[in-house]
Amino acid sequence: MTEETKVCSRCKIEKNISLFTRENRSKDGLCCYCRECQSVKQRERYIKNNDEMRRKAREIYHKNKTKINERCRKRRAENVVEKRRKELEYERKYRREYRDKILLKQRRYRLENKEKVNKYFRNRYKIIKIKIEHNLRQRIRIAVLSQSCEKLYKSIDLLGCSVDECRKWLEGMFLPGMTFGITMDMVRVSGILIISSLAPVST
Ligand SMILES: [Zn+2]
Repeated sequence: MTEETKVCSRCKIEKNISLFTRENRSKDGLCCYCRECQSVKQRERYIKNNDEMRRKAREIYHKNKTKINERCRKRRAENVVEKRRKELEYERKYRREYRDKILLKQRRYRLENKEKVNKYFRNRYKIIKIKIEHNLRQRIRIAVLSQSCEKLYKSIDLLGCSVDECRKWLEGMFLPGMTFGITMDMVRVSGILIISSLAPVST
């Protein structure tokens, strides 16, 4: 250790030069503050800058509050969609990869829980039938009104077939992978077919 010393310009204490950091810009090649004072200064500068940065960020936020909130909301909504899309992708991939295993498991479950499964399908069948009827009524009513036609008959009578037959017909038009859960809009197709056969009522 050298005997050379230097006076710190902050605490004014004369200290050994090993207690000063190097600084190429200064004349003697050492920092004007001792290490201790330097760290205090740095901390002060950090806190000051940090406060300043925070204040500026707050200012910007308040100025563009609605814009920023809107952007955040949009991004959140997009993230939800993106997340769901990824989940579906994963599910699809999983089903493809483990198809045989899943089928085997399903078959075993159905065999072991025959009564429960039958009941489930009976209920589901009922629900689909109700859904089709409900959709048909609404679609036909809207379509008839939009064409300035009068609806003189019950929607189900206008169908020209039973709801069961309609269901089978719709199922026949499904593309691979379609189910009634997600393709109730198919009912719209049959609605249009019925409407196209209606003659406008002269008023
Ligand atoms: Zn000092």
